[in-house]
Amino acid sequence: MIPFLDLARLNAPHQHRIQAAMQRVAESGWYVLGQEVKAFEAAFARYVGVRHCIGVANGLEALTLVLKAWAFEAGSEVLVPSNAYIASVLAITHAGLTPVLVEPDPQTYTLDPARLGAALTSRTRAILPVHLYGRCTDMAPLLAFAATHKLRVLEDAAQAHGATYRGRQAGSLGHAAGFSFYPTKNLGALGDAGAITTDDDALAEQLRMWRNYGSAQKYVNDVPGHNSRLDELQAAILGEKLPFVAAENDRRRQLARRYLAELTLPDLTLPPADAVDADAWHLFVVRHPERDAFRTYLQQQGIGTDIHYPIPPYRQRAYATSWAGTDWPIAEAMHREVLSLPLNPTLTDDEVTRCVRTINAYMK
Ligand SMILES: *Cc1c(COP(=O)(O)O)cnc(C)c1O
Repeated sequence: MIPFLDLARLNAPHQHRIQAAMQRVAESGWYVLGQEVKAFEAAFARYVGVRHCIGVANGLEALTLVLKAWAFEAGSEVLVPSNAYIASVLAITHAGLTPVLVEPDPQTYTLDPARLGAALTSRTRAILPVHLYGRCTDMAPLLAFAATHKLRVLEDAAQAHGATYRGRQAGSLGHAAGFSFYPTKNLGALGDAGAITTDDDALAEQLRMWRNYGSAQKYVNDVPGHNSRLDELQAAILGEKLPFVAAENDRRRQLARRYLAELTLPDLTLPPADAVDADAWHLFVVRHPERDAFRTYLQQQGIGTDIHYPIPPYRQRAYATSWAGTDWPIAEAMHREVLSLPLNPTLTDDEVTRCVRTINAYMK
């Protein structure tokens, strides 16, 4: 059996470092907002190429806190891709704002900048591009549009640690970015964790309050903040794993290149191959017109897959009344056809060979 993702195997090469970090924190007597968080924030800011990193509880909080700190008037609209993961949409509504869905580019699965104009209203205040599957959104036209219309840009970089766009890292392309370190991400903690990156000094200062009860000084509260702190244990573990992300992403790129070159099943649509070395390949997502039958076949052959995602945000019960009667044909087709193949840094060459052979042998 080749599992879609085995988290124990993913962390096995790091076990000795993880154990040492956990012991260090356990014995330190300091467990929240201490030296480990400070050191990781500095290292991650350097890695992304920005001035500030603010560690927070998870990726959803990272996005929510930035939108709250920007303090747009109630009813303001945020443009977000119609095929986003639910967290991107939840962040907007948690901040009291209105998500306006914009269809993605059907080739890249990321927000299509050419469609922004039609979604713009006098209430639009921000754009939330999602670098889905580890590929950066086409940011140049998006940033030009944002500048013209005085909009803030919040990158959802939760799947894009180490992805680049024109030589710059995901998380350094907009006004601020949210990262997740959920265990399955390219940089994963042993629990929930997240971070915000930004070059904006004033925003960074605000966010350090927002994540800590709205307080810069103990028992003095300047904004109605959250308890959304990255804890010392997770920060220490992330700090140990960060130096290996670049090499692990390179291994992901190697495997992606093999899939792209060797998968020949006629009905299969492969992901875009134009930015193999820039993409972080968080997921290798193919499309098949009879996805569910194809997935069952792979399962029977011992190959685990996953679907990112089976139900789009606008069809979730959580938002039952928000978008009734509207349709997003591009996102709809994606959710029906996408399938994520096994791809992670610990996957062996032999395992990829088996995946490729099994997929290419599929007959309806
Ligand atoms: C994982 C993820 C999030 C949310 O991160 P959590 O840490 O799980 O809250 C947000 N956006 C995208 C695209 C994600 O993949």
